[in-house]
Amino acid sequence: MFDWFGKRSSSKGMLQRSNGGAPGAPNGEEKSQTRPMPVDPFASLKGQAAIVTGSTSGIGHALAETLASRGCRVVLNGLGDPAAIEKARAEMEARTGVAVRYHGADMTKPAEIAEMVAYAGREFGRLDILVNNAGVQHVEAIETFPVDRWDLIIAINLSSAFHATRAAIPLMKAQKRGRIVNIASVHGLVASPFKAAYVAAKHGIVGLTKTAALELATDGITCNAICPGYVHTALVDGQIADTAKARGISPEAVVKDVMLAVQPTKQFVTFEQLEGLFLYLVSDLGAGATGAAFPIDGGWTAQ
Ligand code: NAD
Repeated sequence: MFDWFGKRSSSKGMLQRSNGGAPGAPNGEEKSQTRPMPVDPFASLKGQAAIVTGSTSGIGHALAETLASRGCRVVLNGLGDPAAIEKARAEMEARTGVAVRYHGADMTKPAEIAEMVAYAGREFGRLDILVNNAGVQHVEAIETFPVDRWDLIIAINLSSAFHATRAAIPLMKAQKRGRIVNIASVHGLVASPFKAAYVAAKHGIVGLTKTAALELATDGITCNAICPGYVHTALVDGQIADTAKARGISPEAVVKDVMLAVQPTKQFVTFEQLEGLFLYLVSDLGAGATGAAFPIDGGWTAQ
């Protein structure tokens, strides 16, 4: 068995590649010639090109850094103060030594989304990875849920992924390879009260993931969804305040009795925990996984 950084161990997994052992060994296993294994299965990310939507903060920013730190050029996207965004872009570029660009497409605007994808193609001459991550939240009961909030959440959390995927497919098909990763949510698999638009959008993006996977299965393009439980980001900070108001409880009670109450580990999911699955999905190792929705939720959906 090898670990992802090339060291071999003695466990008997599917990936075991032994060398020079005697037939008829006690465990009955006939050892075979070593098959070359990549020292770093993520090395192929070097020179690739990616777009990560909503990467000016939180999960998107962390995943963009993951890609750039492995040599994959990245287009950042998202809202925020232009000077702060430029500072973060330049710092990521300096830290990783790869080209990091920014495109300010508003994820509610289909034409801007298509232009962002075209920009990545022009800048890098290819597009290997699309991460549909941008998202917003609003927490309120259905009967008073503001209609404009519903429309906004569906546009950003669901429709933007359709528009970006639609624009990216021709570029990926031309390369006969691509990776689309949709950052859905545990709320793409189960519901919670007061999150009608978010839950509907996230269930929708899981459906979009499956459909894209089927349409692209013979083109070397995979499409998968990651379904995190609670990760402590700006989005969650906003939810703590909104949920406290919706339920009439304190922010501390929201974290303890609402959020982490449903997460059996009683811990927030971390960026590093998301990164492991993300790297698997975007690398060559992930070629056989498509159309799936992977929870990383501290056991939430096991209940
Ligand atoms: P965040 O608020 O830190 O980041 C959201 C990003 O989306 C920001 O970069 C923001 O600028 C961008 N964005 C918002 N509106 C936009 C628009 N109109 N156009 C372009 N960009 C826009 O939130 P996060 O927690 O990092 O969330 C990222 C994704 O992960 C979201 O899709 C969210 O639903 C999902 N998610 C988060 C959690 C969690 O607990 N934090 C759990 C499950 C899923």
